[in-house]
Amino acid sequence: MKAIAVYPGQKNSVHLADLPMPSQDEIPDGRGVLVRVLRCGVDGTDKEINAAEYGAAPDGYDFLTIGHENFGRVEAVGPNVAEFQPGDYVVATVRRRGSSIYDRIGTYDMTTDEIYFERGVSRRHGYLTEFYVDDPEYIVKVPAGLRDIAVIAEPLSVPEKGIIQAFEIQRRLKVWQPKKAAVLGTGTIGLLATLILRLRGIEVTAFGRTPKPYLNSDLVEALGARYVSTRDLSLRDSAAVYGPFDLIYEATGFAPIVFEAMEALGKNGVLVLASVTGGNQMVEVPAAKINLEFVLGNKVMVGTVNGNREYFEAAVRDLAMAQAQYPGWAARLLTHPVQGLDNYRQLIDTLTMGKDVIKAFCEIAPLDVPVGTVAHANGAVHAG
Ligand code: BGC
Ligand code: ZN
Repeated sequence: MKAIAVYPGQKNSVHLADLPMPSQDEIPDGRGVLVRVLRCGVDGTDKEINAAEYGAAPDGYDFLTIGHENFGRVEAVGPNVAEFQPGDYVVATVRRRGSSIYDRIGTYDMTTDEIYFERGVSRRHGYLTEFYVDDPEYIVKVPAGLRDIAVIAEPLSVPEKGIIQAFEIQRRLKVWQPKKAAVLGTGTIGLLATLILRLRGIEVTAFGRTPKPYLNSDLVEALGARYVSTRDLSLRDSAAVYGPFDLIYEATGFAPIVFEAMEALGKNGVLVLASVTGGNQMVEVPAAKINLEFVLGNKVMVGTVNGNREYFEAAVRDLAMAQAQYPGWAARLLTHPVQGLDNYRQLIDTLTMGKDVIKAFCEIAPLDVPVGTVAHANGAVHAG
């Protein structure tokens, strides 16, 4: 079967690879689920992997199938799978279990292992391919009514984790009632963080560089949130006008803004850091002032990466809530569909050089693809 792959460590090595059809027997005890990939989105992580700044191939391979923003349909299930049936729509998590105590309780997103396994990113093949097989533990059902937008579920799981963790941390305050939040960055993750916070009734100010109006600022305002261009008002100064911010979610990819965010954060507030920033950028900061305000204001800052199934389930619920409360909003994020794995060049070019791209994604198979056709064609696979 076809797969879009790179040679990790080799710049711009994206190519079409050939992989054997996966077998359900890769998962022990009759627990294998065979899924046909329908759509797969790409993001900054894929961009970095193709730029040879990130990513690792699985053992025994010199290439890595990229793509982790998956959406698919169950084709067949092993005899001991009760959770799914052929025809179900599903999204799979990205990270796989390591060996730390956090991995052992299913919170592999909190692993303390140095080496981690992520499908499409690190040592495991991803989803820019035709089929995958996995354990039900890593697969989350998506209602058929959400299939048009469900390729957003994986990116949505990322801010779901950050915001759920922020609420978890703030239980320290006994009576935390966040009223005002700031979201830094209005790319896909910033927009989705804005959505989650608006669904919880919080007043949101979202910051981007570009002056409004443009699609991203329109999408912020369609959620009843405020868009501020940092060219008009700096984050630091905005706190006096639109704050105090009880929660700040950072998703710009620009590391120096973190220190300004520490200043803009209100008393008892929580600052959530979600940008994966490569390189070794240096900045000078007002250290004493930031530290003093953190101490006197009982502030907290937390980093967040990845998500386990809890956060994918939250993402699926919030996709449904989004459709109910802001109908059509999520579909507006799906700006750049690319037809078929053969057009991998167009997919990567759209990701790296496209104009006004919020989400580029590959349409690998039609959403209403018939089910159960592969099971018979492929001897290695048993139909459910
Ligand atoms: C993915 C996460 C992953 C992170 C770091 C992100 O793009 O969505 O699942 O943990 O990159 O590899
Ligand atoms: Zn991602």
